[in-house]
Amino acid sequence: MSGEKEVAPRRIVVIGAGIVGVCCAAWLQRDGHAVTLLDRQGPGEGASFGNAAVYASESVLPVAMPGILRRVPGMLSDPLGPLAIRWGYLPRLAPWLLRFVAASRPDRVEAIARALAALQDGGQDDYAPLLAEAGLTDTVVRRGWAAVHLDAERLDSARSVVALQRHHGVSVEELGPEELRQMEPALSRDLKGGFYYPQVAHSLDSYGTVTGLAEHVRSRGGTVVRGEARRIVVRDGRVAAVATDDGEIACEAVVVAAGAWSKRLAGEVGRRVPLDTERGYHLTIPEPGVALSRPLYSTEFGMACTPMTAGLRLAGTVELGGLAAAPNWKRAEVLAERGRKLFPELTTEGASRWMGFRPSLPDSLPVIGPGRVPGSFLAFGHGHLGLTLGARTGRLIADLVAGRPPVVDPAPYRAERF
Ligand SMILES: Cc1cc2nc3c(=O)[nH]c(=O)nc-3n(C[C@H](O)[C@H](O)[C@H](O)COP(=O)(O)OP(=O)(O)OC[C@H]3O[C@@H](n4cnc5c(N)ncnc54)[C@H](O)[C@@H]3O)c2cc1C
Repeated sequence: MSGEKEVAPRRIVVIGAGIVGVCCAAWLQRDGHAVTLLDRQGPGEGASFGNAAVYASESVLPVAMPGILRRVPGMLSDPLGPLAIRWGYLPRLAPWLLRFVAASRPDRVEAIARALAALQDGGQDDYAPLLAEAGLTDTVVRRGWAAVHLDAERLDSARSVVALQRHHGVSVEELGPEELRQMEPALSRDLKGGFYYPQVAHSLDSYGTVTGLAEHVRSRGGTVVRGEARRIVVRDGRVAAVATDDGEIACEAVVVAAGAWSKRLAGEVGRRVPLDTERGYHLTIPEPGVALSRPLYSTEFGMACTPMTAGLRLAGTVELGGLAAAPNWKRAEVLAERGRKLFPELTTEGASRWMGFRPSLPDSLPVIGPGRVPGSFLAFGHGHLGLTLGARTGRLIADLVAGRPPVVDPAPYRAERF
């Protein structure tokens, strides 16, 4: 159990202060390590800034499910579709895409689901001590969430997905349109039905959670530094420092938690990983004119609708387009149109828009484990589930650094699987 005294304290640099990095830092600090949290932008400014804020504990299936190959032509032809590929990026994406499609084979889906379910099992509880110590417990509410369908055919085909979720221990109930409208009166009368997941929680302020946890790390004696990790310095075959523009930060261990930008740093400690990005967008509407009690998800639109302190957030969709291309803001604007199909009374004036880079491996599993160079550890690639799995990842990394029996078997998440 973390927090026991026998762990030898080390100086550890965590590169990246997104939700994954801050959770790693907080769990490592509980073992008495001297932690430096290094981020070139400041805590929570990456993908963790604008996500849909759902602790999606029901999510145990990969993004690529059987039949994904048939959808690829559609992804290429509709730049505003829920899952789109930018033509210009296709040549660079091709190796990732092939692995993505390969991960949709039924036997692979089964293995990936087992690995995700293991991370999810009790994973939310790993947030409890961190949020309590940081005074952030009130940012989390558990009112469940519902996947809703406007399309009867899609509703029908979703039943096989739900059966698979149940098989992996997810608690879910099918509800008719009237039951759902009783729960959420803002929903359209065109609704055909959906599925309710009672265990799911959401954050009222997911950005505030990251900045609050970073502040908590600092208040307990950690160091939070703004700067770019240029290089991981290896001396005598071990991690010795992280080089920044302001000089080296000496350390005995490093955790690469740089989200979608982790590939180069992982390479420096001997692990080649096919990391890419699934870009996503949001609109946050301060005065939406409709009230939701809990988040809803539309599979048709690939969009979550989450009631937060800042307003209603419409967030999601996947655009495979790499790290360099400018945002296609039409993808954010179209969320308003889709939102009005779900909630006819929705108003979107004053909405702010955002794009973020999900760090994604093609098999929808993160990389959590040691690098090849002694003293190096990797914690990235959480795709759609970085908020959900941040605390579990931090605890697992702390276990691996301490060399004690890990909270879950880390084998499925090792970088060497590629
Ligand atoms: C639209 C959308 C909706 C989403 N909804 C959900 C949801 O409801 N639930 C959920 O669980 N997940 C959701 N996600 C996914 C989730 O946001 C990500 O998985 C998560 O934020 C990844 O966290 P991270 O810490 O790995 O990366 P990031 O938050 O991107 O953090 C990485 C950090 O590393 C820093 N960095 C990079 N390179 C360097 C360097 N060389 N030196 C120093 N610093 C560096 C960056 O500045 C950044 O701050 C969503 C994502 C999107 C885009």
